[in-house]
Amino acid sequence: MSLDTVSRLRSQAINRTIRTFKQPLDNRGRVQKVSDYYGELTFDFKTSQDIPETVKKEILAVVDKGGVVKKEHAEIVARVVTEWASENGATHFCHWFQPLTGGTAEKHDAFFQLKNGKPIEKLSASQLMQGEPDASSFPNGGSRSTFEARGYTTWDLTSPMFLVEGANGRTLCIPTAFVSYHGEALDVKTPLLRSIAKLNVAATKFLQLAGHKETERVEVTCGAEQEYFLVDKAFYYARQDLVMTGRTLFGALTTRNQQLEDHYFGLIPDRILAFMQEFDFELHRLGVPAKTRHNEVAPGQFEIAPIFSEANVAADNNQLLMSVLKRVAEKHEMVVLLHEKPFAGINGSGKHVNWSMSDNTGLNLLEPGAEPHQNMRFLATVAMILEALRRHSEMIRMTISGAGNDHRLGANEAPPSIISAYLGDTLNSIFKSIHEDTTFTPRENKVIDLGTNQLAHLLRDNTDRNRTSPFAFTGNKFEFRAVGSSQAIGFPMTILNSAVAEVMIESNAMLEKDLQSGTSIDQALTNIIKHWTKNAFHVVFNGDGYSKEWVEEAKRRGLPNHRTTPEALKVLSQPEKTVFLENLGVFQQEEVQTRYNILLERYIKVREIEFETMVDMIHQSVIPSGLEYKNFLGSIIRQQKEIGMTSQFETNAYKLVSQKIDEINEKANQLQKEIHVHVDDHQKHAEKIANELMPLSVSIATICNELEELIPTHYYRLPKYYDMLFLK
Ligand code: ADP
Ligand code: MG
Repeated sequence: MSLDTVSRLRSQAINRTIRTFKQPLDNRGRVQKVSDYYGELTFDFKTSQDIPETVKKEILAVVDKGGVVKKEHAEIVARVVTEWASENGATHFCHWFQPLTGGTAEKHDAFFQLKNGKPIEKLSASQLMQGEPDASSFPNGGSRSTFEARGYTTWDLTSPMFLVEGANGRTLCIPTAFVSYHGEALDVKTPLLRSIAKLNVAATKFLQLAGHKETERVEVTCGAEQEYFLVDKAFYYARQDLVMTGRTLFGALTTRNQQLEDHYFGLIPDRILAFMQEFDFELHRLGVPAKTRHNEVAPGQFEIAPIFSEANVAADNNQLLMSVLKRVAEKHEMVVLLHEKPFAGINGSGKHVNWSMSDNTGLNLLEPGAEPHQNMRFLATVAMILEALRRHSEMIRMTISGAGNDHRLGANEAPPSIISAYLGDTLNSIFKSIHEDTTFTPRENKVIDLGTNQLAHLLRDNTDRNRTSPFAFTGNKFEFRAVGSSQAIGFPMTILNSAVAEVMIESNAMLEKDLQSGTSIDQALTNIIKHWTKNAFHVVFNGDGYSKEWVEEAKRRGLPNHRTTPEALKVLSQPEKTVFLENLGVFQQEEVQTRYNILLERYIKVREIEFETMVDMIHQSVIPSGLEYKNFLGSIIRQQKEIGMTSQFETNAYKLVSQKIDEINEKANQLQKEIHVHVDDHQKHAEKIANELMPLSVSIATICNELEELIPTHYYRLPKYYDMLFLK
């Protein structure tokens, strides 16, 4: 990057024109309503008018009860969807899946075929139902040798298909699960579906025991709020670290960051609003129910939240949302950063996974109902979730680990790596009073009778919010707030669903026993509440999760606090902590091992790329910037000497820059040497990176920032935080 280039990039970014897109018009020439085009790019066999009702019913029975879709039924769906996709401009189809890379994968095939030498468009039943990508090219954690690389993708009947638009045509994406030849899950979706099925059975039984005779099915619901940063494309491509690692590896802070707290919910800049409008439009066409958009806390940071939906669909939608986000940003000459911590010193990004369960009658298990006894059912549900959280907190913590999220968790801006739950004062006191057999007195000395529907009102009106808890009860759902912004939400939900399913199964057995011996339903539910809250209250924390006191208090309570990814992942090598997944049938032991290997390896590779990139940028840009400035200072010092002047300021600056360059160079060499020291054991290798090399790289970043602050902007060869955060 030559010296004048950064300033050229600045003028590019400042002078961008705001992009407009053609909004569809109705036949009277007015802009269409969202409801006119919502879901126009999706195909769901359940709602298609071209598929006979009997066929739908039979396929739905497979969804409900398991089994295989009949070939003739798949053929009908394949024919109808091919027609629909072709009419809508699609030339290709693909099996769209979520391998263990954290992203999505797709391999395109044309509908075009030759039948007796004649060109036709066709998708066969078997092409719809099964694909065979080369599994050896996806992370498999050593679970299979390459000669057994066959893996299958199978059609996920529960998630709608959709058309993805390229500049020159469309592709039909068929959501699929990805398993190995031996049936081992190689993806995020398969275990998620298994966990949803387990929770469905357990929660259905629970509701039936609790007297809800009409409950036939319970689904997991999820709404994932997504945070992201936008930077102008010009700066992005000029920062090697953003391109290679998704975050800035160093960069001096600007003078105004988020101290004034004026960005959150602030006025959305025109260029960003234009982007958001097109983003929402594209999401709505894809049937992703985008609902809320706003500025986030940090400059350059924003958020989108959808209306919640069934968990598997929500997980697919979130993946789709992330890819649409990237594509639309690109059209607006911006790049979206989904990394958990793109800029040191200001807030990073997370994903708030709102989570609940609801049954076929629309009953939300985390909502106290109008019927008096529903309060007990609700409280029992909360108690079971608390116990699940307590019992499996290390596993839950593990699911949100990763190189990116390590920068957030415990960094006083995101919920800490200690898993705790926030209930709020009202719920907290109710549990306490049930536990102590006392009467619950909320505010104003008003006694609340749990036999009435006061509770529902109380919780709905209850506005106390806690932003520092990783797992907060927010009125009628829990909000898992520690998930990283780039992560696939399917994995954390899988473990959460499983943990809750396990406790529910145990609770159902207790309930059944109580009911058989003549205990009333309400009393049996009270017993459940008392039983679990005894221990589970250890995970309840209603105070400031960012405070030092909480870290100490959590330690006293014996709650685990795994600060880094290698520490957090270790739980996967402890069979006694993962065996519940095997017992439930959500993961086989080998699949757990696979994930342990993949996640550990990913951590190591990500960090190694970061270190290599850092060293490279230091040599390519940071040190040369310092040298150019020294050269400039040197010529002044010489000039002034010639005319008999001393150069105190210039000489000091010269010396200081030299000193910083030497320090950076020395440490960078040390880092480079360390990267290549071979460590045999993956766990030890990852720990060395987290405990030794990360602190070293942070200290290098600090000196780079000090040097950056010494050098005049026009001598600095890289875009600065000022450019990336404020020039849009
Ligand atoms: P917040 O509570 O964070 O201020 P909202 O009330 O809008 O904001 O909810 C945030 C997210 O929670 C949204 O995506 C919303 O659809 C989702 N949500 C609401 N109810 C449920 C539920 N029962 N299950 C799962 N997600 C839900
Ligand atoms: Mg929220």
